[in-house]
Amino acid sequence: MIEQKNGIGVQGSGCSKPLKGCAIVVAAVCFALLGLLVYLSQRSDFQSILVCRQNMTEVGQAVIRYYEVNSQYPNSLDDLKEEYLKTTAMLKCPEDKSGSSDTSYVYHKPSAGADKIFIMLECKNHVLEKGRSMTLIVTLDGTWSINYSAKSK
Ligand SMILES: [Zn+2]
Repeated sequence: MIEQKNGIGVQGSGCSKPLKGCAIVVAAVCFALLGLLVYLSQRSDFQSILVCRQNMTEVGQAVIRYYEVNSQYPNSLDDLKEEYLKTTAMLKCPEDKSGSSDTSYVYHKPSAGADKIFIMLECKNHVLEKGRSMTLIVTLDGTWSINYSAKSK
């Protein structure tokens, strides 16, 4: 019984101390996140992912517009040129070092009743740290995301 009373007393009087500690931890986490953001934004590969994301989103929207006009999906991304894309530069990923004039993106033509999560665009030009690969994707509903996969040994 006495121990219980003491326990309550300690908790009551030390109320502000854990709060202070908590604030310091929160501040430290904020600084760490800020540092990480600054670091990431200065990396050229991060910048190129942002440009690639912009391109892929625009190309994805162009595919949808093509479908709305023609009642069918384009057979290739070349069908989008001029009429549906502001500039053909959007078909190039900044990480594409092939020197080819072809589009950097892999296009999968959706079937008529394709699912919203059907992957229609892929970019495989981005290299992650050794051991892992990453593919940027756009699904039929226009959602852009990154698929990470561990490389098989
Ligand atoms: Zn890319």
